[in-house]
Amino acid sequence: MSYGFEFTFLRRLKHFIAIHMTRVTVAKGDGIGPEIMDATLKVLLAAGAQIQWDEISVGEKVYLSGNTSGIAPESWDIIRRNKVFLKAPITTPQGGGYKSLNVSTRKFLGLYSNVRPCMSLHPFVRTKHPVMDVVIIRENEEDLYAGIEHQQTDEVVQCLKLISRPGCEKIVRYAFEYAKQQNRKKVTCFTKDNIMKQTDGLFHRVFDEIGSEYPDIEKEHWIIDIGAAKLADTPEAFDVIVMPNLYGDVLSDIAAQITGSVGMAGSANIGEECSMFEAIHGSAPDIAGQNVANPSGLLQGAVMMLNHIGQASVAEKIQNAWLKTLEDGIHTRDIYKEGVSKQKVGTSEFANAVIANLGQKPSVLKTVSYSANVALNLPKYVRKPSAKKVLEGVDVFVHWTGLNPDELAEKMQKLEFNGIKLSMITNRGIKVWPEGFEETFCTDHWRCRFKPVEGYSIENKDVVELLNKALQENIDTIKTENLYSFDGKSAYSLGQGQ
Ligand code: NAD
Repeated sequence: MSYGFEFTFLRRLKHFIAIHMTRVTVAKGDGIGPEIMDATLKVLLAAGAQIQWDEISVGEKVYLSGNTSGIAPESWDIIRRNKVFLKAPITTPQGGGYKSLNVSTRKFLGLYSNVRPCMSLHPFVRTKHPVMDVVIIRENEEDLYAGIEHQQTDEVVQCLKLISRPGCEKIVRYAFEYAKQQNRKKVTCFTKDNIMKQTDGLFHRVFDEIGSEYPDIEKEHWIIDIGAAKLADTPEAFDVIVMPNLYGDVLSDIAAQITGSVGMAGSANIGEECSMFEAIHGSAPDIAGQNVANPSGLLQGAVMMLNHIGQASVAEKIQNAWLKTLEDGIHTRDIYKEGVSKQKVGTSEFANAVIANLGQKPSVLKTVSYSANVALNLPKYVRKPSAKKVLEGVDVFVHWTGLNPDELAEKMQKLEFNGIKLSMITNRGIKVWPEGFEETFCTDHWRCRFKPVEGYSIENKDVVELLNKALQENIDTIKTENLYSFDGKSAYSLGQGQ
C-alpha cells in the first residue's frame, strides 16, 4: 500500500468515524460521580458506542468558587452545542442561595419530559414487588417548580403553582407516544383535581383530550393520594404513569426504591432540542472514593441516551449484558445479599463484569430488544385561538392583623363604587365573610373578592381605582388576582364553603 493511498484511507476513515460519532457532553459531578461515570464510559466504549465527549466541570467546586448556579457560562455553550448531556450526580451545598443545577438545566434547555423506568429484577435484587415494571413520566418544567415564591405578610408565604396548556399537552403526548413505541398497554394519569380544579384540572382534561387520540391504549385517572397508595402496594397494576412535576418527583423515587434499590434506576430528561441523562440517586458523599458505589443507575441513564441518539443496538447489547451480570450474582455492596449474590464487587469490577458479558443475554430475566427505539419526535405545540376573556371581578389580598372578619368587611366596603361590591372574604381559602364560623382560625392574610352586582360590569381601570381607594383608606394590599371567564365559563376557584 502506497503512503498516498494509506493517507487518503486514514483521512476517509477519520471522516467516516467523525460523521457517525455523536458528540455528547459529560460531567463527572461530585462524590461517587467520577467513579460511576468512569465505569459507565468504560462499558459504553467496550460495547462500541459511537460517541465522543467533551467533559465539563459542574457542581460543588463550581458552586464554592462563587458561582451560585454551579456551572460556568462556557459549559452552557458546550451543552447547547452538543445537545446531549450525560451527567453524574452533584452535591448542592446547603444554604448560601445555591440554585439547583438539575432544575436550572431542565428549565433552561426545555427538558419537559422526565422518564424513569422502574423495574424489579427479582429474584436477583431483593424486592417486595417481584413483577413491577412501571415507567413514570413526570412533567419537568412547571408546577410548583416554577420557583416563584413570596412572603406576603408576617405570617404567610406563597409558592405559585403554574400549569400551562402547552406543558400539559407536551408531557401527555410524550407519555402516549412512549407507550405506543414501547408497546405498553396502559397510561395512567395522577392528579389532585378534586382539590385543584384549575391547575390539576387542566392536566386531567388534557390527558382525556389527547388520550382519545390513542384508542388502542387503555387510559385511567387516579386521584394522586389513593393512586400513590396503590402504586406503593400493588405496582403491578400500573404500566406508564404520567403526572405533574411535584407528584412525579416524589413518586418516581418511591417507585424506584420499591423495585429494590434507588441506586439502580436511571432517568432521561427530554426536550425538543436537547436531552440530559443521569442516575436518579445523589452524589452519595458517604461512600465516595471507595470504589463501592453501584454504577447501574448512571449506566441505565446512558442506555437511555444511546437509544435516544439512534444507537439502539449498542444500548441493547449493554442492557442484556447488565441483566446477565446481575443474574450471575455479581453485585455491588448495596444490593449484595447472602444466598442470592455470588460475588461482592466494587464499582470498577462491576463494570468489567458487564463488559465481559457483552454479547450475552440473561436467561431468567427478560432479554430486552430495542430495535424499535428511536428518539420520539413529537409535533411542536401549536397555540390555540384565543378564547373570549371577560373580567368578572377581582380578588384583593390584604395584610391585616385584626381578628374579626366583620370588621375587615366594614373597612373593605368603603372601597365599593360603580356597582362593584365586596362579595366575599376568605382566609387561607376558607370563607369567613359573610357568614363565617367563629371557629375558623385566621391568619393576617385575607382575600377580599369584589364583583359587580347585576347590571354592572368591571374593567381593568376599576381594579386600579379600587387599589387607589385602598391606599387612601390605609389598607395594606399585597396583590390582586383578576377573575376571568373564558368563553363564558368562570375560571377561578370559589371560596371553600361558598
Ligand atoms: P444520595 O442518593 O446521594 O444517597 C442516599 C443513600 O443511598 C446513601 O446512603 C448512599 O450511600 C446510597 N447510594 C446512593 N447512590 C448509590 C449508589 N450508586 N450505590 C450505592 N449506594 C448509593 O442522597 P443524599 O445523601 O440525600 O444526597 C447527597 C447529595 O446528592 C446532596 O448534596 C444532594 O443535593 C445531591 N443529589 C444530587 C442529585 C443529582 O445530582 N441528580 C440527586 C439527588 C441528590
